[in-house]
Amino acid sequence: MLLGLIGYPLSHSLSPLMHNRAFGALDLQAQYCLFSVKEEDLRDTVYGLKTIGSLGFNVTIPYKQKVISFLDEITPQAAEIGAVNLVYRKGERFIGDNSDAPGFIRALKEADQDPQGKRSLIVGSGGAARAVAVGLRDSGSEVIVTSRQKPKAKFWEQFPWLQLKKDLSMSVDLVVDCTPVGMYPDNSAQPVIDPRLFKKETVFCDLVYNPLRTSLIKVAEATGHQVVTGDGMLLYQGAISFEKWFLQKAPVNVMQEALSEYLEGGKKND
Ligand code: NAP
Repeated sequence: MLLGLIGYPLSHSLSPLMHNRAFGALDLQAQYCLFSVKEEDLRDTVYGLKTIGSLGFNVTIPYKQKVISFLDEITPQAAEIGAVNLVYRKGERFIGDNSDAPGFIRALKEADQDPQGKRSLIVGSGGAARAVAVGLRDSGSEVIVTSRQKPKAKFWEQFPWLQLKKDLSMSVDLVVDCTPVGMYPDNSAQPVIDPRLFKKETVFCDLVYNPLRTSLIKVAEATGHQVVTGDGMLLYQGAISFEKWFLQKAPVNVMQEALSEYLEGGKKND
């Protein structure tokens, strides 16, 4: 059984490591590969995977929107977010879905941070921010967004917006940094939001997982805030993908172990 990740270019991804470890643990005759595909070959790749009976695949930059025209259906959540990162088979049909939104929420809950009834501030307004916004809203959280420029997309009109600035301070329960600031190799970049200006009870979450302890996470921890690192979202979007493909529970512990060995082993984040 062939599964994988379609994107271009695909220099590195932790998904093969995580999924192949899961397949091995459950003795599944399956292989998760990286498909680095040029745009003119995207259609043939999707149809080819369908023809050979693949259970599905993940999609990343730059095809999260472009892949939609080659699918039979997309879920309402993926349509609202405007991005498909998961495709799974339903009979003869390929369904486009988004596992970032439920993956993020599952990661929060696993960290004992149920967002229901909470007030959340999302930093940034890119693709991941849209998934996080939908996930939080659908889990009963109040959502506020802050970014460098007011987002133009109609999607964002449903949320109050604030200008992002270094001294931004407000009373919220959760701050989710959805910008790439602090990502390897710019590990020492200054965080775009200052945890020292927020109440002690505010939980800080960074979607960046490489390095695991970003500059934002370090400052937040140093000032006594609880934190949620980005590896949880990576893990659970993968687990949700696995469950849609194989219709059985993902071996989350095995997948987490594979990620931890890599991220905490210092192979990428030093
Ligand atoms: P994206 O679509 O490019 O959006 C990035 C957002 O960050 C934009 O709103 C951008 O603002 C803002 N931004 C960039 N640099 C900034 C800066 N210096 N100061 C303030 N804002 C800045 O990217 P994405 O796909 O949403 O991904 C965002 C991050 O999340 C990436 O690091 C990605 O690796 C991570 N991610 C993690 C997971 C996970 O599983 N943990 C899943 C998805 C994404 P402008 O529009 O003004 O440029």
